[in-house]
Amino acid sequence: MSAEKSNPLLPVKNRLESFWLSERDPVLQNARTTAELPRNADVVIVGSGLTGAMIAYHLYSEAEKMGRRINVVMLEADEVCSGATARNGGHCKPIPFIGFRAEAAKHGQKVANHLLTFEAAALKQYADLVQKEDIDCDMHVTRAFDVCFKPEDGAAAKKDYEARKAAFPRDVAGQDIRSVDDPKELELLTGIKGGHFGASYPAGHLWPYKLATSLIHIAINKGLNLQTHTPVLSMKKSEVYSGQWEVVTPRGSITTSQVIVASNAYTSGFLPEFKELIFPVRGTACSITPAPSHSHGAHPGPIKYSYGFRHGAGDVDYMIPRQGRGRIPGLGDRSIILGGAKSRFLGDLSQWYNNKQDDQYMPGAKEYFEGFMKKYFVGWNGNEHGNVDRVWSGILGYSSDLLPYVGEVPDKPGVFVCAGFTGHGMPRIPGCTAAISSLVASRIKDGFITSTAQKAFEDSLPQPYWLTQERYTSRVNLIQNMMKGDKTKGALQNSDEAVMAGKAVRAKL
Ligand SMILES: Cc1cc2nc3c(=O)[nH]c(=O)nc-3n(C[C@H](O)[C@H](O)[C@H](O)COP(=O)(O)OP(=O)(O)OC[C@H]3O[C@@H](n4cnc5c(N)ncnc54)[C@H](O)[C@@H]3O)c2cc1C
Repeated sequence: MSAEKSNPLLPVKNRLESFWLSERDPVLQNARTTAELPRNADVVIVGSGLTGAMIAYHLYSEAEKMGRRINVVMLEADEVCSGATARNGGHCKPIPFIGFRAEAAKHGQKVANHLLTFEAAALKQYADLVQKEDIDCDMHVTRAFDVCFKPEDGAAAKKDYEARKAAFPRDVAGQDIRSVDDPKELELLTGIKGGHFGASYPAGHLWPYKLATSLIHIAINKGLNLQTHTPVLSMKKSEVYSGQWEVVTPRGSITTSQVIVASNAYTSGFLPEFKELIFPVRGTACSITPAPSHSHGAHPGPIKYSYGFRHGAGDVDYMIPRQGRGRIPGLGDRSIILGGAKSRFLGDLSQWYNNKQDDQYMPGAKEYFEGFMKKYFVGWNGNEHGNVDRVWSGILGYSSDLLPYVGEVPDKPGVFVCAGFTGHGMPRIPGCTAAISSLVASRIKDGFITSTAQKAFEDSLPQPYWLTQERYTSRVNLIQNMMKGDKTKGALQNSDEAVMAGKAVRAKL
């Protein structure tokens, strides 16, 4: 029986080609560092997306600190880095206040603020990493503009902003958040028509595939063994070596004391305990060539910011204007990456919920993207296809409470999970991967997680991300609650799909 048939939750074949895959890494694409699968390892990482890549990088940094050689194997089901990281919007857009009141009602103000400061810190973490390792990934620090198109959404966003500012004035000032109330001023600043309220704050964009593959190269130079086209089918306790795990693939098994699961949407494919906790959600994005009106030397000229287009509760598009290719901004391809188009497909759950078919287009998305720039950007004079080049889909890993799971699996000592980024991985992955890697390093060094390492983990990582027994065994699914029309308070503000699905389903009742 093929792996695909025996284990349906694996990436599909012949997936759509994203913009980011237009420059694949020829060395890593189908790489197997050794022809044979190693029989044992200190750590097995499952998945070679940004999460797996950052974990590999951090683990080898930790090993250097410990002055110890470690033996890490990375297993990837398909080509290297071919999942969400190779199909996303490339946008590191830390949420600065939207949803603050909802999160505070659920977790308290301090924790709600920690969620936001944690995301904000990611920008510097990316910049430091890219600078330190001299990584060619078109990293660009800019400002993101959230633009609300409905007065009521603008009013709600303002209340969130005021609430966080009143409670944590220094954090808000430190994050350099600026809001704009006047629609005319908003249009002048952003070049976007029809907005009612906007706020800008530091954000970034980069080529996620290039960052991930660069980190994997660095880790390979330090000893990482990468095995592509090697899907993990299951995991079991070793019957031979006490306290060790056997990671089963079609090419044989690896025995290891530590497994780090970085397979995001596909996690429950080999960890069935996560079937009710993380599930695949299909999304879509496209690349657009700037129109003559939005090119250098023209009026209004190049797009200045990255954006969140907030059309209504839950209906958000996101955009980055790339600044060229390579280490010199301004040279080379400047495609705009635009994602979302949710209003076109969210009413049909089968198109996105529990859907892993990124070999197929999302219905209506191409037409939506083609009409987008002319509709929203002042003076846009593109062609009849809205200058859209490529359209693709990708599979996001949604968690049942809409926040990532990070930590050791409660009933599986030595098995760690860092997954469920719920469509918002870029501002979360650097901090989450650093935290999980230190925990695993402690276990390698001392044979168990020391209290110091556990405390450092808990201090750095927002408490709602911890993979606690309570979250592990919870069967609450916020998306399903929304679909039933239950206005559960909490993290829903983060989930565009949840809100849209709730609206769509209720509208049909
Ligand atoms: C269309 C789209 C747009 C997005 N836009 C943004 C954005 O602009 N900003 C943002 O913050 N986030 C965005 N996201 C989300 C973001 O891409 C993810 O949060 C992030 O890439 C997750 O990285 P990851 O490494 O955890 O997962 P992935 O990149 O999906 O990597 C998981 C890897 O595990 C492998 N794998 C799966 N199962 C197995 C197995 N059994 N054995 C071995 N390997 C396995 C997969 O093949 C894959 O390579 C977007 C996602 C999509 C799809």
